[in-house]
Amino acid sequence: LIELRDVNKYYGDLHVLRDIDLTVGKGEVVVIVGPSGSGKSTLCRTINRLETVESGTVALDGRPLPEEGRALARLRAEVGMVFQSFNLFAHRTVLQNVSLAQVKVRGRKKGEAERRSRELLDRVGLAAHADKYPAQLSGGQQQRVAIARALAMDPKALLFDEPTSALDPEMINEVLEVMRQLAREGMTMVVVTHEMGFARSAAHRVVFMADGRIVEDRTPEEFFTNPHSDRAKDFLSKIL
Ligand code: ATP
Ligand code: MG
Repeated sequence: LIELRDVNKYYGDLHVLRDIDLTVGKGEVVVIVGPSGSGKSTLCRTINRLETVESGTVALDGRPLPEEGRALARLRAEVGMVFQSFNLFAHRTVLQNVSLAQVKVRGRKKGEAERRSRELLDRVGLAAHADKYPAQLSGGQQQRVAIARALAMDPKALLFDEPTSALDPEMINEVLEVMRQLAREGMTMVVVTHEMGFARSAAHRVVFMADGRIVEDRTPEEFFTNPHSDRAKDFLSKIL
């Protein structure tokens, strides 16, 4: 479904992504881990062309990502992204936050969009909060709204960049639980996270990055019990 071939990217002199080959199949959950600055966020952003690349190809469903314009906007809507900071519209209600892009990007009627939004809010456990404003919700609830908003585009895949890093510990699990549920339902997901419990229990593959390279790409079982590279061993010894 998602296919990166020989992707290279620079920020000035910094070679931030090096010869990246990554394939994510339909229904697959891939967790990306690695030290700070290794290029995890850049890789995520590359997948839906929030970043351009200097060489290599990024394809979705076998089609190369267009450079710009309407075709790009459409493709971007097919790959939802959930960030560390929830990026909700502060002056819109929860229901409006989930509905707006459905009307603007998907061309749904307002009533239809709101019906779909309520369904999704129910799915993330927030049916009772539809008319509140983001500031009236906890961080964990706001992040679940952001997930509902991404789902409202009927994405083929979802990208998560450290979705729980800004949350207080007691709220992390409610967000991970929603993500586990999506994984069980067969959603294709790429997840950058430090939550190794989630990686172990929900990921089909763990991709370990260091210095802009994919150093390991293996099952969680293999990665956690028998990392091959010294970089991964060192990384794991610091976080486990
Ligand atoms: P973290 O775990 O801290 O989030 P990361 O693995 O997500 O790190 P990236 O954010 O992808 O790392 O950054 C990779 C490298 O690129 C870092 O050295 C970073 O400083 C650099 N970088 C990121 N964004 C930019 C930018 N817009 N301009 C210049 N350099 C950047
Ligand atoms: Mg990052």
